[in-house]
Amino acid sequence: MSEISRLPGPFERFWDWQLDAACRGVDSSLFFHPPGERGGPHDEREEAAKRICAGCPVRAQCLQYALAARERYGVWGGLTEDERQALLGPAGAPRTRRRAPSRRTRPDRPARHTAGAR
Ligand code: SF4
Repeated sequence: MSEISRLPGPFERFWDWQLDAACRGVDSSLFFHPPGERGGPHDEREEAAKRICAGCPVRAQCLQYALAARERYGVWGGLTEDERQALLGPAGAPRTRRRAPSRRTRPDRPARHTAGAR
């Protein structure tokens, strides 16, 4: 999921770059991989998407949006999700819920010993 809290807001001037996108009218499945896609078909699809991005007049705005929104999937601004993640580094990693370690794995709180408890 994208992080919409980082986006500029609903004003048209922030989004009208999309009207000039080279991918308007192109099947969006070219930019997003289907489940389980691997190897040659995956690489060929991404390269085809990148060729469209290479000639796009709003590539910079698109990439800026994707980085700000932490778009997790697809080709945006000519970069794949892995390439965008490499640009963002660890600080830009998608947020994931952290689970507290269980009692059994927390060294500071040993599992409760109940034998002989009062
Ligand atoms: S850079 Fe690529 S994904 Fe972004 S608007 Fe242009 S064609 Fe579409």
